[in-house]
Amino acid sequence: MSIQTDFVIINANELVTLAGSSENPRIKERMKDLSIVKNGAVAVKNGKIVAVGSTDDVLKQLAEGYEVIDATDKLVTPGLIDPHVHLVFSGTREDELEKMAVLGVTYLELKEQGGGMNKSLKLTSETSFEDQIEITSKILDKMLIYGTTTIEAKSGYEMTFNGEIKQLEIIKSLNKSHPLDLIPTFLTQGIPPDHEDNVDDLVDEITEKWIPEIAKRKLAEFADVFCEKGYYSLDQTRKILLSARKHGLKLRNHCDWLSHSGGTRLSAEIGDIVSVDHLIWTPLEEVDALQGQKTIIVFLPTSPFCYVNKYAPAREIIDRGMPVALATDVSAANMCESMQMMMTLAVLRMKMTAAEALTASTINAAHSIDRAHEIGSLEVGKKADIVIFNAPNHRFFAYNYGINLVEMVFKKGKLVVERGRRVS
Ligand SMILES: [Zn+2]
Repeated sequence: MSIQTDFVIINANELVTLAGSSENPRIKERMKDLSIVKNGAVAVKNGKIVAVGSTDDVLKQLAEGYEVIDATDKLVTPGLIDPHVHLVFSGTREDELEKMAVLGVTYLELKEQGGGMNKSLKLTSETSFEDQIEITSKILDKMLIYGTTTIEAKSGYEMTFNGEIKQLEIIKSLNKSHPLDLIPTFLTQGIPPDHEDNVDDLVDEITEKWIPEIAKRKLAEFADVFCEKGYYSLDQTRKILLSARKHGLKLRNHCDWLSHSGGTRLSAEIGDIVSVDHLIWTPLEEVDALQGQKTIIVFLPTSPFCYVNKYAPAREIIDRGMPVALATDVSAANMCESMQMMMTLAVLRMKMTAAEALTASTINAAHSIDRAHEIGSLEVGKKADIVIFNAPNHRFFAYNYGINLVEMVFKKGKLVVERGRRVS
């Protein structure tokens, strides 16, 4: 039977399929296996993948009348997935990053001086819906140009009822207007200055008013909490997450970034949290508490790179058989939209192999946002989210780094990036 096709990418030096892991994330040795087809091809029709395999095998199956894209000497992968993004904010903080890096000023000291999170809360709440759309679209464009085709997008930079609704409405609007797919998360993040002395009251308001309204209006799929010393305590985090679960939201948890908060242990206790993120300071026995649960651990290499110079113990966590993903942690505090750079840091600073890093940026990242049935691998029936890299193989992300290796990006079968520019 001949397969109808819009276009086919042929002759890929490495066609990374990551096939066969839509049900469960890859762990241990499977993380090192990318299910590569040498001299591979992938055919697309109506935004979906219709054939994958060696170039000879795929071409034999196709009905005539298709476009051919030659990927000789190139790497072809599933669209990269970024499962942890603080997307909606206004104002930049490059001066603070320099103070931290050069003078050793800490993140919490900046906050006490009115900078850090408080500065972002103020500037973001003063920005109109339309202006915020414009600011945020530019971030999404950069992500797409660097090969990312789906992201998780968090609110959390206003922390008022109306402000958080506005943030989630912005994510909803951008999900419709921008080629990138955005998975919305309501994040309880900053503490507004007028609530510094009564965080429990704010938590009551979040659980009794904000979450029910967000759930009713279907503005978020996930809830997440900034479970960190100086932010939300274990008891407050538990209360918010359980309220979100009661209202039908899936859960994530943002923990053990600045110090050991105990958030990972709490996540294990609550159970069935879809992802726990950071884990820089988590003792390994607390990581072990997650064994047997479906939770994905998301590593965010930029925050150690920028702030603490201590990375999550990725090697030990992978060797324990835990599923892991990578993400950029784009936020007002540090800006790197490139998942290619995350793979660089994962290999050169976190002792992950190049294959593990790519697995963590594709199929396992898809699991961490509950989308592995439709993206994260090149398999028949999945969305045609495909990247052609101007690189001979997947090890190039940690070798030829700090530049954009992307040649073409296809989102749902449509060419959206070519030679470093958005083309549609
Ligand atoms: Zn984060």
